[in-house]
Amino acid sequence: MTSANELVVPPLDDILSTLRVVSIPMKVKFRGVTYRESALIKGPAGWGEFAPFLEYQPAEASAWLKGALEAAWQGFPEPKRHEIPLNATVPAVGAHEVERVLSRYEGSIREVKVKVAEKGQTLSDDCARVAKVRELLPDAGIKVDANMGWDLPQAVESLTHLSEYDLLYAEQPVATIEGLAQVRAELREKGNSLLIAADESVRKAEDPLKVAQAKAADVLIIKAAPLGGIRSALRIVEKSGLPCVISSALETSIGISAGAALAASLPELPFGCGLGTVSLLDGDVTENSLVARDGMLPVRTVEPSQELLTRFSASDARVRWWRERIEHNYAHLVINN
Ligand SMILES: [Mg+2]
Repeated sequence: MTSANELVVPPLDDILSTLRVVSIPMKVKFRGVTYRESALIKGPAGWGEFAPFLEYQPAEASAWLKGALEAAWQGFPEPKRHEIPLNATVPAVGAHEVERVLSRYEGSIREVKVKVAEKGQTLSDDCARVAKVRELLPDAGIKVDANMGWDLPQAVESLTHLSEYDLLYAEQPVATIEGLAQVRAELREKGNSLLIAADESVRKAEDPLKVAQAKAADVLIIKAAPLGGIRSALRIVEKSGLPCVISSALETSIGISAGAALAASLPELPFGCGLGTVSLLDGDVTENSLVARDGMLPVRTVEPSQELLTRFSASDARVRWWRERIEHNYAHLVINN
């Protein structure tokens, strides 16, 4: 039985016949790579992006393929909103550099994510950076992201101090789901109700429920592709019962349009999303990139330009690699779907 809400997996030949593989230089090295490779496919509903990180195996990456097929063959669900609030991001710079970082954002800033717990830095560096953001933007929402950089005692101590700056939430203070649950419980015992968000702990479809069941977080940071696309992500999110923030996997504007469509479909969207990442790439597949104005990202589809697809075309060897990758993931998807 299939319904409008279920993806009918198209024949492999149809998928491969439209395949374009691009390799786009990164402005800043990320996950050890200086080029972002991505496979783009076109179906009757539009373009989909298949760009799991290179080391991901079919058990994980086939969910990303399902997401790309949804975009290309099924299209996006009816949106509940037409623009998505984004957050600005302040990396682990010195407090004196915060103003310069924020000045790069056009228009008003409603929400800022501040990186904390950087190796080689101290809690007073973090406090000074967050204090500077609070001073410059007294009305903005501020959240901190530790990217798993603390152990349990450091997390509790740091968040106790950082809470004084009135934070929306703290993202992934420690590495594991159990650790997050402990940090959250210890803060609550001290009468601190700071919300905890899980990001790195949510990588696969089963993770949101694990986080919710362990009472490890109050907020989930999710990406559309690893959860198998928008409709699948919506089902998983609903089961978890937690509010969500949508982030990107460093895709081109095509993948970002799927992230925006997921954010547009959520029943509630209480926080700014992390979908402003096209600017980290030194190129895109469209002249009309999906970027924010005044902190708001439009919800729309993206059509790539042939000229840019050609300009950023990957080598023949890399195209073959991605073809084979799609074949393997397709087999995995068909068997497990
Ligand atoms: Mg994060």
